[in-house]
Amino acid sequence: MTAGPTREPFDPARFISNPSTGRMGYALAAEAMRRGAEVTLICGPTHLEAPPGAHLVRVTTADEMFRAALNQAPGVDLVLKAAAVADYRPEVRSPGKIKKDVLRRKARKGQGADRAILLRLLPTPDILEEIGRRKKPGQVLVGFAAETGDLEANALKKLRRKNLDLIVANRIGQDGEGFEAGTNRALVIDRHGKKTGLPLMTKEAMAVAVLDLAEPLLAAADGRRGGRGTRTVS
Ligand code: C5P
Repeated sequence: MTAGPTREPFDPARFISNPSTGRMGYALAAEAMRRGAEVTLICGPTHLEAPPGAHLVRVTTADEMFRAALNQAPGVDLVLKAAAVADYRPEVRSPGKIKKDVLRRKARKGQGADRAILLRLLPTPDILEEIGRRKKPGQVLVGFAAETGDLEANALKKLRRKNLDLIVANRIGQDGEGFEAGTNRALVIDRHGKKTGLPLMTKEAMAVAVLDLAEPLLAAADGRRGGRGTRTVS
């Protein structure tokens, strides 16, 4: 299970991030444990208290989350990727704080057109896509999609591109949904194209609904590989 935002620093005092609180991921981890799963929770910076009993791996950047997730993925039955991973990171990370007066001096010397500073961004690795590429028979992958428009079309595209079994798509920029909200509303699509609408509910209730949809997929996968005892979730 991954949860929370990632932070992509460009100096020790500044970073690029998003408003994810980690609440959806934490709720999923707690619910999976309630159902008897052994849970590894890889999470970006959050103020939430970790659900007791989860094996917690704290990370900051997308690169760190990539390494932690790829390290855990081969040994788990179910991967739930609720983290809001930054898609871009600054190309250069300055070891010292970038000072305003240095930037102004550069501007006077004609090295900058004005007082604007140019921040070059490079893409981060897509963790879920890589896990999807390496997916083993019997593993179930669940992804999340936060969209401002074309919810269904975008979710379907991600489901296929990332080789997912289930995708949970929600809108952002609307009250009560997605980032920072205690509640969520979502459209869930499985790999066969079956759609389930989840109405506005708390993220804890949504964790129950999402795992209700994911569990039968695990059972089917179990059947294909002859069954197993304890479930592991990452
Ligand atoms: O493409 P998008 O970022 O909207 O994908 C959403 C899904 O992919 C989420 O489950 C998210 O955790 C995962 N993701 C990832 N690594 C990235 C970007 C997204 O695992 N670099």
